[in-house]
This record gives sequence, structure tokens and C-alpha cells, in this order.
Amino acid sequence: MALDYEKIWEDAKGILKEQIPASTFEPWIMPIVPVKCDEEHFKKDCFILKSDQAFGVNYLYRNQNYFEKIQDAIDNVAGQNLPVSIIFVPSNVKKAPKKKEKPSEQIVLMKEQIDNLKQMHSFCALNLKYTFENFVVGENSLVAYNAAKQVSEAPGQKFNPLFISGSVGIGKTHLMQAIGHNILKNFPDLKVKYAKAEEFTNQLIESCQKGADSYQKMKKFRDRYRNVDVLLLDDIQFAEGKKRTEEEIFNTFDALFHAGKQIVFASDRPISSFKNTPDRLKSRYEWGLMVDLLVPDFDTRVEIIKKHSVRSNFEITDEVAEFLAKTYDNNVRELEGAYNKVSAYASIKGIELTVESAKDILGLKDGAKKITPDIIIEKSAEYFNVSKKDILSTTRAKEVKNARQAAIYLTREILDLSFPSIGEIFNKNHTTILYSYEKLKKDLATDKTLQNSIKELTTLLNQI
Ligand code: ADP
Ligand code: MG
Repeated sequence: MALDYEKIWEDAKGILKEQIPASTFEPWIMPIVPVKCDEEHFKKDCFILKSDQAFGVNYLYRNQNYFEKIQDAIDNVAGQNLPVSIIFVPSNVKKAPKKKEKPSEQIVLMKEQIDNLKQMHSFCALNLKYTFENFVVGENSLVAYNAAKQVSEAPGQKFNPLFISGSVGIGKTHLMQAIGHNILKNFPDLKVKYAKAEEFTNQLIESCQKGADSYQKMKKFRDRYRNVDVLLLDDIQFAEGKKRTEEEIFNTFDALFHAGKQIVFASDRPISSFKNTPDRLKSRYEWGLMVDLLVPDFDTRVEIIKKHSVRSNFEITDEVAEFLAKTYDNNVRELEGAYNKVSAYASIKGIELTVESAKDILGLKDGAKKITPDIIIEKSAEYFNVSKKDILSTTRAKEVKNARQAAIYLTREILDLSFPSIGEIFNKNHTTILYSYEKLKKDLATDKTLQNSIKELTTLLNQI
């Protein structure tokens, strides 16, 4: 399902209109329109806005508060984090002719600006929200937080590498990017690079392709990762067992480390589970300081919601905050997702947010056990007579595929999780998840047996 950028921006504007004075809203926000990011020349999972008002763009960026409000409104409406950039595109630039292989003049210009922005603020690479100030420290994160803070105050001099581990949705990326922000703030001349291991791998594969310019391509890749002062490499569990990627990580690490540059790694799994990683790389990972983020306790979860509510300028009662913190107890991303959903819904519909209305919006019935991705996988496995392990594997046997597709579809429909989060649960790339979801949705229109299975499974899940 492609994102409906127009609709998201329309709804986001509705929220912003309430939060931003008309003297800023009318001249600077109104002329902004979204750029379709799913076009091939842009990075996916970004939300790029354009305006033909140079001053306005500048103004919104300089007043971080406004920019953050725009980012929050878009995240709230989209129900997922979509890093926002606002670019200036003069209105006299010619429109792209329809069928054309080469990127149009306009696209080249916009791409250049996005690259410049990335260079200036690391936009799209660093999320502006992921700062130390926005991170709520609890007992679960105290050690990791302090280590991250120290690294950001003296990059390359302490704890190198810093290795952050912890389960999914618990703040690893947030903390890692906070290091990046603080370094850029304290040492504006340093070059900070943030990347996920998946992106690293894909770029490496692209650079390895044979051709006349293969040497140049490889050089460019290496420059990108070695010509930096700080490398933040996220989700390195993705690289496990990928020989070429791990070799490149190893060499990149050595090059940076010997030059006194700071490296930070993050992983969903502890190193001890990296069975297919060569020992020499494992020892590099373990070389510096390893910190573990744990699930935040109840009070910290309540505080996270409150902080979020202050930032997004949406009042939430203690009762509702506590209800959410109690219901979503092991994943901050899900907790935030639930908060985003209830607050966006309540403000768009103009209803009062109470525990009852929150339950309604989230589809949680009283006394009912909460449906989780794990329960959906379990029930789908039972229904199709396969095992949970099969569903999470890469097996393409017909029954397993059916069960997997049904589980993916129901996870999206019932829990409304974003495709990247579903990808993490099912060990798949988010485009694979999107494809699987779309395929089942299409088949549902015509396939009676499938309609029946989904209906029965939904009933089973509702009985839990
Ligand atoms: P991970 O990388 O561990 O999967 P993220 O860093 O992406 O998790 O965190 C998921 C979401 O939860 C983010 O939006 C992040 O800002 C938020 N979050 C996690 N921990 C905290 C915290 N301690 N304080 C504030 N927000 C948090
Ligand atoms: Mg992460």
C-alpha cells in the first residue's frame, strides 16, 4: 500500500493549524505541498515537502519548534515515523515531462537539495526527535544513556566502539542518533554518518557490481563510510552471516578505529547469538563498552507518554497515560504508536480522550486479552496446521506461505503496525511485507476460500 502523501499532509495541516499561529501558518505552511517519495529517485520512508517560499523554508527550519511540530503531526497522522525534510523548489522550474528515463531537471534539483540538507543537518539520516532531551531515562536505560552521553562529549576517546543491544522498539536507535545530534552540536565540523546495516549491505552490493566504473563505485562506497569521524551503524544483527558485508564492516571498523574515529553499533540481539559471525569481527564488536537497554518500568513508560504529549501539544490525562503504559508493557514503539493513534484520532474527530474512548480507538475490549503479533502468528499456524517456526522461516511450502501471508495481513489489519515494524517481527524486509499484504488483499476480493479462512481466523482471534 503506497502512502497517500496528499492525504497525510492534509490531515497534518489540520493538526498544525491548531498549533501554529495564523501569522506563520498562512504564509509559510499553506504553500507547502508533499513530494511523492515513492518515486524511484527518492529514498522511501521519508516525507519530503516542498515550498516555493525560500524564506518560509528557512524560517521553519530555524524555529526548531515549528519543524518538530510538522514532524510530529506527520508521524501522528501516518502512524509511523517518516523523517521529514522541507525543500525549496522555485516555482519557475519546468515540470517533469511524463515519460522520460533520465531524472528530470526538477528531480535533480530537489535531490541536490536533499543531499545538501543531509549534509547540513543529517536530515533523513538523523531524526530530529531522537535527541537526549527527548529521551526519558529510567533504571532500564541509565547505564546506556550515560555511556552514550559520554561518547558524544568525547568521540573516539572513550568506549570505542560503543555497542548498544536490547529488544525491538526499546530506544536503541533513539539513543544512537542522540549521540549523533550531540556530536554535531558540540563539534559542528565533525562528519557523522548514520546507517542501518541493511542500507550498508545494499549499497555494498550495488558497489560490487561489475562494470567499467566498478573501481569508482567501490571507492565512493568506502569514502562514504570511512571518510567520517563518527559512524553509527544500526541493526547490525542484519549483517550476521552475510560474509561480504561482515568483511566490509570489519575493514571499515579497523580503518576508523586506527584513525581514532568513534564507532557505535546497535543490535536487536546480543553478540552471543551471532553464531555465523567470524570471531575476529565479534571480538571487534566486544572491544569497547557493551550496554544493554532493558524494558522500561511502568513509571518510565508513563513518563515517556507524558513527554510525548507535551511535545506534541496534546493534553492527556494521567488515567489515560497510565492505561496505555499498563497495556503496552514491553515495546516503546508500540506504546508510542498507540499514543499517536489515540491522540490523532481524538484531535481529528474532536472527541475527549478517556480510557473508554482510547479502548475504543485501539479496539481493546474490556477484559479481553490483548491481541499481539505473537498470538496472531500462533493462531495462524494452528489454523493452517504448520508451526510458528515455519511462519518465521523462509520456507516457501504452500501451506506455510498461506499461513504467513494470513498472519502478516492480520497483523496489519488488527494491530495497524507499520510495515517496517511488521518486517521486524517476521524477519523480512518491509517491501516484502508490503507486497505480501497487498497480494492477499487483492486475492481476498475474488477467492472465497481465502475470505473464509480470514473470517474464521478473525473470529478465533476475537474470542481470545
Ligand atoms: P529500537 O531501535 O530499539 O527498535 P527506537 O529507538 O526506534 O527502538 O524506539 C522506538 C520509539 O520509542 C522511538 O520513537 C523512540 O523515540 C521511542 N523511545 C524509546 N525509548 C524511549 C525513551 N526512553 N524515551 C523516549 N522515547 C523513547
Ligand atoms: Mg532501531
